[in-house]
Amino acid sequence: MSEVFRGSFTQQEPIPEDGIRAALEVLRHGRLHRYNTVPGEMGEAAALEAEFAAFTGARYCLAVASGGYAMGCALRACGVQPGEPVLTNAFTLAPVPGAIAAAGGRPVFVEITEGLVIDFSDLEAKARASGARLLLLSHMRGHVCDMEALTELCARLGLTVIEDCAHTMGAEWRGVASGRHGAVACYSTQTYKHMNSGEGGLLITDDADLAARMVLLSGSYMLYGKHPAAPGAEVFERLRLDIPNVSGRMDNLRAAVLRPQIALLAERRQRWAALYRGMEAGLQGIPGLRLVPRPEEEAYVGSSFQFLLPDWEEPRITALLAACAARGVELKWFGAGEPAAFTSRYVHWRYAGDQSCPQTDRILFGLVDMRLPLTFSEADVAQIARIIRDEALRIGQAEAVEAVAAPQVQ
Ligand SMILES: *Cc1c(COP(=O)(O)O)cnc(C)c1O
Repeated sequence: MSEVFRGSFTQQEPIPEDGIRAALEVLRHGRLHRYNTVPGEMGEAAALEAEFAAFTGARYCLAVASGGYAMGCALRACGVQPGEPVLTNAFTLAPVPGAIAAAGGRPVFVEITEGLVIDFSDLEAKARASGARLLLLSHMRGHVCDMEALTELCARLGLTVIEDCAHTMGAEWRGVASGRHGAVACYSTQTYKHMNSGEGGLLITDDADLAARMVLLSGSYMLYGKHPAAPGAEVFERLRLDIPNVSGRMDNLRAAVLRPQIALLAERRQRWAALYRGMEAGLQGIPGLRLVPRPEEEAYVGSSFQFLLPDWEEPRITALLAACAARGVELKWFGAGEPAAFTSRYVHWRYAGDQSCPQTDRILFGLVDMRLPLTFSEADVAQIARIIRDEALRIGQAEAVEAVAAPQVQ
């Protein structure tokens, strides 16, 4: 009898007890709106901003309603114009091009490499061809490109970088917190990311002008003085009548849930690293299955795992996915013809127009993805890897037998 995995790929850990207590307190006093404070009180949303700014080392921080909202807000603060091209990775999640479109921009997709990061030569080519001045760089699934090289290239191309750190909250590149290389960084605190408040987003920047614009955009009315991690009033006085209110604030309830989780990010990264390394070890050396090498400079958060099935044909890939699913192992495939659940790719985002990234198409066709929630143990991960190994070998053997049985069929 072959083993079956009984765990859930979508079960997150509970909210820490101090987050629950703080949330109950907010519910009891009833001041959920971030600007609803009594004299001398610093609301939970404001405190969260000050604490997340300190965690990343950024001068300014703004808490908002979602990661998608954070990206749209950053783009608007950078002055994106109707129809303006905005470069982004061809391998990313639907809310990224969605944020560009919502801000009135036009997503221009850039090829990725086998390391699942943005391709610098295509970035240069697309920047020149489109005349773009903005890059929304997505650290998709936590894979970080060479950030020094990227920064230098973007400076040379006159590109302002907005970082999508939905999968790199708590990660580092060469000891620098992910999100500290670009002009602005956007994080998500949605349930499947690294801190969980159901929905939510955070923005950081060192630029006073951008910070003030984002605070005003998020819907601060004339209450921007209640933001401890924002620039001084003089910056707002210059801008406040020119920036539209596009409400997308975070509330005190979600902020209360999040604050105690900041201090847990380092420990969570370690636990995720153990799960990630366990999966990597378990999938090592399977014929036809390629692991994604991780650069030494990257301190990643292994909250998900990807592997490649280069040159596998569709029936073989779907057979592997079905066999694993039957044994409780939920794999997601970026090569599927139809988008499913959270998984889609750039050709499915038809509103962005017809674009072609053949290198990315080839890579994504063989790209398999899975979540590694912290509710998994190292034994769970070892079992999942055994099941994938078993099924990949079995399908490989069946294939070999077929080839011998029917050598005349080409
Ligand atoms: C989840 C996610 C976002 C957006 O976050 P939401 O909070 O769900 O809007 C952005 N980029 C990537 C890569 C994501 O996975």
